Amino acid sequence: MAITPMMKHYLDIKSKNEDSIIFYRLGDFYEMFFEDAKLVSKLLGITLTGKDCGLSERAPMCGVPFHSAETYIARLIDMGYKVAICEQLNEAKKGEMVERDIVRIITPGTVMEENILSASNNFIASVYLKKNNIGISWLDLSTGEFNMTQYTGDKKFESLNDLLTTVRPSEIISNSDAFNEGENLPCVRSEIVPKFYKFLDFAYEFSNASQNVLKQLKIGSLSVLDCKDQTEAICASGALLEYVQQTQKRSLNHINHLNIQKDESYLYIDASAKLNLELTKTIFERKRKGSLLWVLDETSTSMGRRTLESWLLKPLRNEVDINKRLDATEELISNNVSRDELKNILNTFSDIERLCGRVSYGSVGPRGCVEIQKSLSKLPKIKNILKDFNSKLLKECYENIFDFSKLQNLLERAFKDEVPVSSKDGDFIKEGFSAELDNFIKAKIEGKNWIAQLENKERELTGIKNLKIKFNNLIGYFFEVPISNKDKIPFRYIRKQSLASAERFTTEELNKLAETILNAEENISKLEQELFNQIKEEVKSYIEQIQISAKQVAILDVLINFANISIKNRYVKPEINESIRTIKIVGGRHPVVEKLNKFERFVPNDTTLDESCKTMLITGPNMSGKSTYMRQVALITIMAHIGCFVPAVSAQIRICDRIFTRIGASDNLGMGQSTFMVEMTEVASILQNATNKSLLILDEIGRGTSTYDGLSIAWAVVEFVTEKINAYTLFATHYHEITELEGKINGIKNFQVAVKEFNNSIIFLHNIIPGCANKSFGIEVAILAGINSQVVNRAKEVLHFHEEVNLNTSLDKSVVFVENKQPNNNIVIEELKNIEPNLLTPLEAIGKLAELKEKIKE
Ligand code: ATP
Repeated sequence: MAITPMMKHYLDIKSKNEDSIIFYRLGDFYEMFFEDAKLVSKLLGITLTGKDCGLSERAPMCGVPFHSAETYIARLIDMGYKVAICEQLNEAKKGEMVERDIVRIITPGTVMEENILSASNNFIASVYLKKNNIGISWLDLSTGEFNMTQYTGDKKFESLNDLLTTVRPSEIISNSDAFNEGENLPCVRSEIVPKFYKFLDFAYEFSNASQNVLKQLKIGSLSVLDCKDQTEAICASGALLEYVQQTQKRSLNHINHLNIQKDESYLYIDASAKLNLELTKTIFERKRKGSLLWVLDETSTSMGRRTLESWLLKPLRNEVDINKRLDATEELISNNVSRDELKNILNTFSDIERLCGRVSYGSVGPRGCVEIQKSLSKLPKIKNILKDFNSKLLKECYENIFDFSKLQNLLERAFKDEVPVSSKDGDFIKEGFSAELDNFIKAKIEGKNWIAQLENKERELTGIKNLKIKFNNLIGYFFEVPISNKDKIPFRYIRKQSLASAERFTTEELNKLAETILNAEENISKLEQELFNQIKEEVKSYIEQIQISAKQVAILDVLINFANISIKNRYVKPEINESIRTIKIVGGRHPVVEKLNKFERFVPNDTTLDESCKTMLITGPNMSGKSTYMRQVALITIMAHIGCFVPAVSAQIRICDRIFTRIGASDNLGMGQSTFMVEMTEVASILQNATNKSLLILDEIGRGTSTYDGLSIAWAVVEFVTEKINAYTLFATHYHEITELEGKINGIKNFQVAVKEFNNSIIFLHNIIPGCANKSFGIEVAILAGINSQVVNRAKEVLHFHEEVNLNTSLDKSVVFVENKQPNNNIVIEELKNIEPNLLTPLEAIGKLAELKEKIKE
């Protein structure tokens, strides 16, 4: 038996789309065959059947009803698969094969379905590697946001990796060279980017790529873009457009702007800092609750939410732009009434950015259009409130919201109040919008009345009292006149049929009426669809203006949000500009910890980082609050750079170029790195990349190795960052020996977290004060954690022994030191010699030694 034509076609389609699961439309089902069928039946738990198709064995097959396919597709996309939709293009005709073709390939990065997308951006990225340069482009198809940048030199992979952790694309395509270098991108191997595909090299060639960019942006020359040094970025962007075109198979005019991201415009937060500072997700549970974004986000719209997230991941470095946001927030804070009014309007504002995407994509339905209309109708009210504001950014928002009264009016006239999601369901155009449509609808509803009216009218006109209008399937509507009235039949009557007892006629009017009635339903749905297409075209012509206005609404939403959370959480306006050379925070608080610990008062702390104190060496017991304090300084600094008020009594923040963190321990076994190796790699990167404008948060460097190795590394790092890099650094450590650096190196100052010893236990005061802690109270914290008494007591014995040995060594060294340097200082020498370590508690002995050290100085 020969292979069936349908299966031949299927195999042809599959061979051209090997990396996609083919949803092949057969009647009311999408069917999958062969390996696709086996895979999908396993993944989604669908029964696997088979189909005879002329091959020696039945083809494995499974299928899903077409009307519920979206949920199945959503699950496959969520698992990272691509789904190619092979649709029937015409109606089945007897003896002819139905024409079918791929109409769209849905991939994780090109999803448009509302129920699959989350409120956050969904980016697809394209990476192009050529020798020493990497171009990268990323696009959110659902909103049209399109960006590119490029990196060069030794740190290009590092920079790319950092960018990808910010953008978090759900899919990456690349040229062969970049694909082969995939292992240089840790994020590609991790959960951050689940799908990494190789795309066509020729699409990345400059001539092809640049043509795609010009065509998409409708510009004549690349010079318009100010992208002289961005050749590889253009290659990445053009290839991305090609990919989108090939998978989506339609023109997309909501992608009309290409942003070039320049690194020097943003405060650089490297990948591990973003993670460690828990900017958008918590480090362990990867949840939003507990992250900085969770505290900062009380926006009203999805557009605002996306904007806030991108601001948070890309804080600014330009003092003017930062202060524009701060000033606007300040003005909103002082205008309670207007702010509340604006907030109320925004609460019911739709995601018109994404709706524009769907208009351009062709997937918007009547309900989407009504949402656009309702949101556009709110813009004049927003403008009216904004007109009284004076701060620059709010003025810019005001000026960039367009007037849509014409479009708004059209949509209002066109759509009923209650409309279906899909145009296929019909009955959504308002009465009065189209006389023709109204007639069709009338015909449907009032057809019978019209017939009765015409019957009466003709009876009167002809004088035939028993004239009737009748209907049958064979000849449709007709006048029936009994033979006895034959003489009264007017000339305009057209004979249709003669019976023994009656004659049947029609007239032009009856024909028209009959046609109107009979075709009413078909006409209604056809005309509604036509009108809907015209309306969509009209909306399409406004897309760019709607996108710009939507951006203003999003910015306004974030600013109102900033104002509201600042009032609620008692945040203050930070001073931040190029002339400030210090980070001076009075009464600073950790924005997340203070929110989470509702029942405990958060203890505010001050910070002063300046020329005289570039490095704060922080010691203190475990659990006392060192990490919290250091993170709080980093978060306040970041918040100031995004133009947000900060949790403090007052704050002066110098503009920073980078924030680095080395916090916590984690293995990266997948990348073949041990805990200590990860730590050292991060430290190496910090030492290489930090500058005198950077803020470094270094928490317990060196703790992953032996005590003396760790101590030595930590010591050397503190010296290097203070003396050579000149960065501002917060350095927490349990190596108390390092505190000796205070006074030896300018700019290093010791701080400790105060605790109170009470009843053999400790009370954490969480207060940062000058000085250094003399012990870590590790054993006390172990008791608090519930370690059993056998282990605790033994630990105390071991500690006592080591401290004694240490103390004896210290005493011996001190005696030798004083004898060499101050031979006449007999009192001290005597005292030192007389100390009996065995008679003192370790704490008393250390105290005694410190006291004597003071005397030696004198
Ligand atoms: P370790 O040395 O063990 O890492 P640590 O000194 O870094 O500990 P943190 O983890 O910063 O301690 O803080 C421990 C807990 O103390 C926090 O989870 C928080 O609940 C509380 N805490 C920290 N700082 C404060 C503060 N300023 N006010 C109130 N509670 C605080």
